[in-house]
Amino acid sequence: MLHYFKIFTMTQRLLLIGAFILVATIAQAQKPLRQGEPKLTEIWEPEPKVVTPGKTAADAPSDAIILFDGTNANAWVGADNGPVKWKIGNGAMTVAAGTGVIHTKEGFGDCQLHIEWRTPSEVKGESQGRGNSGIFFMGRYELQVLDSYKNRTYSNGQAGGIYKQLPPLVNASRGPGEWQTYDVIWTAPRFYDDGSVKSQARITVFHNGVLVQNDRALWGSTQYIGIATYEKHGDKEPLELQDHGNPVSYRNIWIRPL
Ligand code: MG
Repeated sequence: MLHYFKIFTMTQRLLLIGAFILVATIAQAQKPLRQGEPKLTEIWEPEPKVVTPGKTAADAPSDAIILFDGTNANAWVGADNGPVKWKIGNGAMTVAAGTGVIHTKEGFGDCQLHIEWRTPSEVKGESQGRGNSGIFFMGRYELQVLDSYKNRTYSNGQAGGIYKQLPPLVNASRGPGEWQTYDVIWTAPRFYDDGSVKSQARITVFHNGVLVQNDRALWGSTQYIGIATYEKHGDKEPLELQDHGNPVSYRNIWIRPL
């Protein structure tokens, strides 16, 4: 063996030794880990990217897209893609009855959403007529906004409910005129090419910090009358806020695409 080694020049020998060391090192590194070795279940890659959290859980973390910071509706468009006609002032955006829904310019799929809302302090109407608005994920699936403080309506139509589908686990409503929060984890539905549903939309909702929807599957896009069904749509669709004729206000809206 050594005899054959002598036919190589010194440079070739060094290269051969180097190659051997390299191969041995790689082989060592790739040696399968055995049961009982702590490293067996360690995952190092990819490393989660650093996100600076807000001062409180209500404040946007560093990677959030700010949809409304209280000053302007630049991230939104109104009915027929026209300007937003809702009232902006005192750090809030308030439904101007009859001006129609508003929706984000940008589309969103899976996301984490923080949104704050307030129903009028002057209590008017009852059931669905009191402080009604709504947050439509992907422009189709309504998380109900309603003054549900001592205001009975059908359970899957109250605040924290997925309208006409899923009642909230509990009624965590604050009183009229008080700011309330929704923190939502939204998983968009998936569709096959032929339009059939691969997986339903899923939602988790905290209302004022209280869990009211726990990873529930939606039946389809929100219907006022009749059973909800799915209709294939894009992976990303605008977030929409409802004009139900009541002066409901919104503030501090941020979203994190997931
Ligand atoms: Mg509504």
